[in-house]
Amino acid sequence: MFDKFREECGVFGIFGHAEAAKLAYLGLYALQHRGQESAGIAASDGLRMRAVREMGYVNDIFDHATIATLPGHLAIGHTRYSTAGDSALSNAQPIMIDCVHGQVAICHNGNIVNANELRESLVKQGSIFQTNSDTEVVLHLYARSQAGTFDEALVESIAHLTGAFSFAILTKDHLIAARDPHGFRPLALGRLGEAWVVCSETCALDLINATYVREVEPGEVIVIGANGLQSIRAFPPAKLAHCVFEHVYFARPDSEVFGQSVNDARTNLGKLLARETPVDADVVVPIPDSGVCAAIGYAEEAKLPLRFGLIRNHYVGRTFIEPAQSIRHFGVKVKLNPVKSILAGQRVILIDDSIVRGTTSRKIVKMVRAAGAAEVHLRISCPPTVSPCFYGVDTPRRSELIAATHTLDEIRKYVGADSLGYLSLDGMLAAVGARQQSYCTSCYTGQYPVAFPQDRNAYLQLTLKLDGTPAPVPEEEPEGVV
Ligand code: SF4
Repeated sequence: MFDKFREECGVFGIFGHAEAAKLAYLGLYALQHRGQESAGIAASDGLRMRAVREMGYVNDIFDHATIATLPGHLAIGHTRYSTAGDSALSNAQPIMIDCVHGQVAICHNGNIVNANELRESLVKQGSIFQTNSDTEVVLHLYARSQAGTFDEALVESIAHLTGAFSFAILTKDHLIAARDPHGFRPLALGRLGEAWVVCSETCALDLINATYVREVEPGEVIVIGANGLQSIRAFPPAKLAHCVFEHVYFARPDSEVFGQSVNDARTNLGKLLARETPVDADVVVPIPDSGVCAAIGYAEEAKLPLRFGLIRNHYVGRTFIEPAQSIRHFGVKVKLNPVKSILAGQRVILIDDSIVRGTTSRKIVKMVRAAGAAEVHLRISCPPTVSPCFYGVDTPRRSELIAATHTLDEIRKYVGADSLGYLSLDGMLAAVGARQQSYCTSCYTGQYPVAFPQDRNAYLQLTLKLDGTPAPVPEEEPEGVV
């Protein structure tokens, strides 16, 4: 919520419903947690495609009048947080073009790691890019394809990509869903009566009363048209690399991703954390909201009471007007407040899902102590985060990750806890009920399943992220920074 890896993007698509744009709007509403910078919908009535894209929250962008400009029975939608490309309207999605194969619009969740290489080569061949988003390369590859049909052209374009991608793509009369062969990011297929739905998380299906059918398989391209659904295998089988952080933090607990309930996985993380890092204490307190499921599991396993000793204000915007006389730890205080009657005199186990820089954990531990806690034991429901992500998640560079440059005891001292415990890698993988080989764990291990690009720009970006310069123990953030 403060010092966290940033969410990625959410995608949604629907084919065969008279109110396609309205349902896309509702789907995006359910996926808002996956990106809050911009949102957009493209819809088609079978003849012509129209799109609306704006900066801001889904609810601020779309109203009855806006949705009415998007008629048709098929639509795709996107909520964005920029992981590649600037945060600007030009990079908002869906990105729509008109080319030799007709109109096409695309929504992307993930990060195409060879985008710069492809872009450079396309520019040399005469392509003129309108955005600096990695997603646009797919459209240029598609527009240049000599393939005879649009679906062959799409499959040919997607086959050039490496990295992480879950796509929802719209032509004037088809919906296409595609997923990279490693299955980094989730993508679910559902049904609403006769209509087909694709979405990043199943919570979007629930909101519109659609039923979950299955995942779009890693490496699969699904083409949905008037003649039904066609499944194409666009890639040879590859090593699976589902993002384990979807279970730890990103996805909503009421969703199912990678074939498993997020709530169950997250509660298991807490149970195993309790087994691995026991401590004498009186009460288990989650750091809301992302620490709640793991805290429930921890409390159950440790046979300790769970209490909501920190209350989150859900109605806080992105910026605050702070009084001239600055308030200590304003940025955290405006979002979280301690419940003194729960914390005073207690030995508290605080549960969170991750420590990135450590600055926010330090403020929260101080806040809990100031509320009268006798002891504060911080427990983290995943292993130490030691490496950045290149597959669609915004992370600081390596030297800014406190666990990459400090020992467990140094981190404990910095955050000011009486004890600190992380879940082990084996514990995390056991909790998500998977064989180790099915998951990407790069941010915990520094072992990356997809090779890095060789082009100069991307390499520079990577060295910035991977530089091994030891960072000094972080300073307090300026007040008001969240
Ligand atoms: S590096 Fe971490 S955040 Fe990125 S895909 Fe892998 S597990 Fe997910």
